[in-house]
Amino acid sequence: MLGISVLGATGSIGKSTLDVLRRHQDLFQIVALTANRDIDQLFQQCCEFQPRYAVMADADAAEQLHLRLQNSGTTTQVLTGNEGLEQVVVLPEVDYVMAAIVGAAGLLPTLAAARAGKRVLLANKEALVMSGQLFMDEIERSGALLLPIDSEHNALFQCLPSNYQQGMAAVGVRRLLLTASGGPFRQHTRDQLSDVTPDQACAHPNWSMGRKISVDSATMMNKGLELIEACWLFDVNPAQVQVVIHPQSIIHSLVEYIDGSMLAQMGCADMRIPIAHALAWPQRIDSGVASLDLFDVAQLNFEAPDFDRFPCLSLACQAADAGGTAPAILNAANEVAVSAFLAGDLAFTVIPAVIDAALSHVPVIDAATLAVVLEADQQARGVAAEFLAANNLLRKH
Ligand code: NAD
Ligand code: MG
Repeated sequence: MLGISVLGATGSIGKSTLDVLRRHQDLFQIVALTANRDIDQLFQQCCEFQPRYAVMADADAAEQLHLRLQNSGTTTQVLTGNEGLEQVVVLPEVDYVMAAIVGAAGLLPTLAAARAGKRVLLANKEALVMSGQLFMDEIERSGALLLPIDSEHNALFQCLPSNYQQGMAAVGVRRLLLTASGGPFRQHTRDQLSDVTPDQACAHPNWSMGRKISVDSATMMNKGLELIEACWLFDVNPAQVQVVIHPQSIIHSLVEYIDGSMLAQMGCADMRIPIAHALAWPQRIDSGVASLDLFDVAQLNFEAPDFDRFPCLSLACQAADAGGTAPAILNAANEVAVSAFLAGDLAFTVIPAVIDAALSHVPVIDAATLAVVLEADQQARGVAAEFLAANNLLRKH
């Protein structure tokens, strides 16, 4: 039996992970489940899977969960905070860690899993975007196995040869093609974009996801973060990655070889496919996903991305080129802007301006230590918050 801790168990990726694990209880033992503050859902998950540990990031929520579990006779031990999260990834009985917390909050536990040499199933792209080199160094030092859950990167991993770590040139790869659905506003004009609501932004045409990544898909920042993610995972430059709009989300990404061959990975838009792939690799297990009916799909379309209507993509390319702490600054400002948009406090079209302000005002330096990365994150949040305060003042007058 393989022990697994699922970070972010109550989220979209967390629930899909538990759905796959539920089908393979002979292979995996769930050691820990974690969430921020969704007590009801984590309680139910603990009753079903009886993990040894449950972690609630929020201390009050942890206390309440503890009481409910105690009353129900469940022996799960409840921990809290970052210490709790880190504790349940480094346990000796934990072989695999599903890193599915959203945003910068996942950085420390995901890094801890890398440092401890676990099989890291990486959904939390923000952690890698923020700490790129440090993260990859930890993986190399500890001998951890890093497997991508993001559907595009999982597709690339599946289309690359097993010795790709020798370098793209050595294995005959010309470039990586990262597909993007284009999100719910792919065909919106600039005018139409200015008054879209959070619910419209979260109504993704193909995928059902958490609200933060749904907004990132709508602004195309998600593809920008994924471009940076691809550079770290596969040791390529931004110039070697081409973003391709593919509205059907059937091809999840492609690898082009120097002989002109293009290998693509296809499948339904269901995250249980990459999750099952990474859980079982190098074997295959049933994910619970039905066969893709190509007669239903009928057509596959491709378009070039529109950097003018979706400036977040340009900002991410700019941060990727700048390197150092720029991606951490980009990510932090984006988190602040997206949460203000979701709260109804910011227009959709102002999101890029918040990020631009942070990238222009926070100095970009070498991301040499974790402390430097965390400081850049904090500075960017400060600049973004100041920008929002000034923007709100303008909106009220
Ligand atoms: P979600 O919002 O549905 O779930 C987030 C999870 O993280 C929840 O369990 C929540 O309790 C936990 N969490 C939130 N804030 C926390 C905090 N401060 N401390 C501890 N835990 C916290 O998000 P999601 O859609 O499942 O996405 C999770 C990650 O996976 C993101 O990084 C996202 O970019 C990535 N991802 C998601 C999808 C998808 O289809 N949903 C696809 C690719 C990548
Ligand atoms: Mg993706």
